[in-house]
Amino acid sequence: MSADKGSLTVTINKTSGASNAQIGDPVYGDQIEWNPREGLVTKEGSQSPATGLIHEITHVVVNQDGVASSAQDQVTMMKENIINSETGEGKIISMEKLKK
Ligand SMILES: [Zn+2]
Repeated sequence: MSADKGSLTVTINKTSGASNAQIGDPVYGDQIEWNPREGLVTKEGSQSPATGLIHEITHVVVNQDGVASSAQDQVTMMKENIINSETGEGKIISMEKLKK
């Protein structure tokens, strides 16, 4: 993240359901619900719960970066795949229909 994001605030709460990001709430701000026991196994490999959290954080950062709504899912996946190439986690390609 760049240095001019001093006011970036996001609340992360634990959930037993699906991890997700709720972006732009005028009262509560950006919030993430994260399931620390939710991993994924796909044809492209496996993903740990930590990667799930990075995915949701990336959604928030992409939105705060001002990326157009219609491009946010694609940019999130692209950024996540860069991280996954470093960590060895499986690539995300078209999971956005399953996982927001
Ligand atoms: Zn997503």
